Order: sequence, then C-alpha cells, then structure tokens
Amino acid sequence: MAEKKIIITIDGWSSCGKSTLAKHLAKKLKYKYIDSGAMYRAITLYFLRNHVDWTNAVSVSEALEDIVIEFILNPKTGESETWLNGENVEYLIRDLVIAEKVSDIAAIAAVRAFAVRQQQQLGLDSGIIMDGRDIGTVVFPRAELKIFMTADIAVRVERRFKELFEKNPNVSIEEVKTNLEMRDYIDSHRAVSPLRKADDAIELDNSGLKPEEQLSLVLKWAKARMKQM
Ligand code: C5P
Repeated sequence: MAEKKIIITIDGWSSCGKSTLAKHLAKKLKYKYIDSGAMYRAITLYFLRNHVDWTNAVSVSEALEDIVIEFILNPKTGESETWLNGENVEYLIRDLVIAEKVSDIAAIAAVRAFAVRQQQQLGLDSGIIMDGRDIGTVVFPRAELKIFMTADIAVRVERRFKELFEKNPNVSIEEVKTNLEMRDYIDSHRAVSPLRKADDAIELDNSGLKPEEQLSLVLKWAKARMKQM
C-alpha cells in the first residue's frame, strides 16, 4: 500500500537550520518545500523599495494588492526560488537590510492574513513541508507532524554569520547576534500569531546534532506518522 502523504510543519527560533532540514527532508520524501519566511521577506522588500508607510493600514492594504509572490523551481539547482511580481528575489531577500525590518512587517495583522491565505492554499495537497514561526499553530493546526526547533544562541549566531559573511565580508558577528535576538523577541511577543511551540509539536534541539543525524531522526518520525495514517 502506498504511504499516505502528510503535512510536516517546522517552526522555531531564527537560524536554527529549519530550512536546511526542510529542504533535505523534502528531497528524501519527494515532498514540496515551502519557505514561509521568504514570503514575509519578499513583502518587506516590496515595502522598502516602494516606501510603503507600514504604520498606515490603508497604505499596507493597497500595497498588498500589488504583490504577487511565487515559488519557482530553478532547474539548475533543483531548488525552488522566491519571485516577487515576476522578478527573482531569492538572493536579495536574504540581505541583513531585509532581516532588520522583516519582523516588524510580519507583525502586521493584514500582512499575516495575506501570507497565511497563500500558505494554506499551497498546502491543499498534502506531501508538503513548510517552515516558519506559526505553521503548526495557525497555518496548519491539523498537520500530521509538527516539529519545533531550537538551538543555542551561540550556535545560531555562528551559522547565520557564516552564511551572511560569504555574501558580505563587512558584516559583523555583533550585528548578526543583535538581529537574531531582536527578531526572536518581536516574533515571540507580537499580538498576532506569536512564535510558540504547538502543544502537539516535537521539540528538536539541534545544537549538538550533525545535519545527517538530525535528518535521520526526523525521517524516522515522519515515516512513523505516515504509517499511522
Ligand atoms: O524564516 P526566516 O528567518 O526567513 O523568516 C524571516 C522573518 O519572517 C522572521 O523573523 C519572522 O519575523 C517572519 N516570519 C513569520 N512567520 C512565519 C515565517 C517567518 O512571522 N511563518
């Protein structure tokens, strides 16, 4: 009998390696991977470029009407990339300039409603892995497997610093640490859909785990859930 396709959600603190795990898992299971944070980053890029006053509800809702976000597979890398209004913005949205504003913009109720609607649409077919902050609590509260990731702040800072340094050698470790702490604070204290562990999520602390150890652990959990279906 064919294994039932499930929905897997991966939430957690910034730079825990959620997207790395999600991508590896999606390849192994032949599932679709959706990076929900990329949507908030693309919206932030649009707001910054178009000088949208995000303290004004009318400006926000008008701007959202002009935003189309797509995930398009890059045949060269085999990975899906984020497109904003017909432009590939995958590289641009990873910049620290975007990271510095994204949590403020992601805290706006209208922005979340816009993103969550699209995320739920993308999950209509099962066989999907989505990572973010509110995927197991708000976007897919009935997902079959929910993971909540955490890791030591020092480990997370080091990982994100290495990634950003490759693109921009002027970035400092202090800047990266301040940004992670600020985003974690705003994400977990906002009024709408704050970051929190869903009651039925499995906590995964990957501070001391190698990527392959983490992958095989989560694959075991996923296979077990698929069998129960
Ligand atoms: O996952 P990533 O770090 O790219 O997400 C960028 C930001 O987008 C987060 O710091 C958070 O403010 C916001 N986000 C969110 N809800 C999600 C995914 C991301 O609020 N589901």
